[in-house]
Amino acid sequence: MRSTQVQQLLEELHAKYADLRDGKVADYIPELSKADPDAFGVVIATVEGEIHEVGVSRAEFTLQSMSKPFVYGLALEDRGREFLLSRVGVEPTGEAFNSIIELEEKTHRPYNPMVNSGAIAVASMIRGEGMSARISRILDMFRRYTGRPVGVNAAVFASERETAHRNRAIAHLMRHFNVIGPEIDLALDLYFQQCSVSVTCHDLALMAATLAKGGVHPLTGERALRADLVRDVLTLMFTCGMYDSAGDWAYSVGIPGKSGVSGGIFGVVPGRMGIAVYSPLLDPHGHSIRGEAVFRELSTRLGLSVFHAGAH
Ligand code: GLN
Repeated sequence: MRSTQVQQLLEELHAKYADLRDGKVADYIPELSKADPDAFGVVIATVEGEIHEVGVSRAEFTLQSMSKPFVYGLALEDRGREFLLSRVGVEPTGEAFNSIIELEEKTHRPYNPMVNSGAIAVASMIRGEGMSARISRILDMFRRYTGRPVGVNAAVFASERETAHRNRAIAHLMRHFNVIGPEIDLALDLYFQQCSVSVTCHDLALMAATLAKGGVHPLTGERALRADLVRDVLTLMFTCGMYDSAGDWAYSVGIPGKSGVSGGIFGVVPGRMGIAVYSPLLDPHGHSIRGEAVFRELSTRLGLSVFHAGAH
């Protein structure tokens, strides 16, 4: 498909789904409830560095759970696969992102790094002397993916920190089962900060395109993640990125994807492109409703599924 046709397609889908007003803005983190429910942006960044954008593509929002695959990649670089696998599994839960039940009743270790329990455990594994060294390493890692300096939204961070009783319960339960060490508050604060990293839809598409290009940013040429670890990150996004609707996403979209309760959602078409949508109206799983609709239609019309005949 030619470049002008891709742009036209995005404009068509944006106009079509702007009318979709189902869903709710997240409010369990009070600061997130201030998001504009009408905000809607779609961006595609190809591995060649071509960008197509429509709508609200340059407004900032926080990564929330979309931070998880990237921080998992950094932890893999820091500690290696074996260490991570010994503490956090790679199985889908079939439960919500903030579930505590499988941790308590079954294996006593997080099922995968895309749900909160696994992501908090992964945050505790990031190397660095104390909080500031660790968050600096995380921010520098995100800079390599976006191609520009990024920061933490202090208001969102504070808002989550004050209200995160469930995540605190999960962290303490993991301490009880020896999944994480004694620095429980540090792990939680790091996790809340990675969730509060502020990006635009344009950034998010480039982050996705960096994963699509084997870990190298399409415009800066800088490597964000070791090539052999990109596969691990994308596999977990594919099987677990959408939690208890991962099967539906794999079936209807067919590419590794990850959502966040801020309303962002991104997908990676390996070797081809990164796609990002921003629209804060969420379904009960915490996924952007317009985002899912755009991804479904883009996947069908552009033949994006990794299992699409002729995709390779
Ligand atoms: N920071 C959020 C939380 O822990 C992230 C959840 C999400 O985006 N699904 O609840």
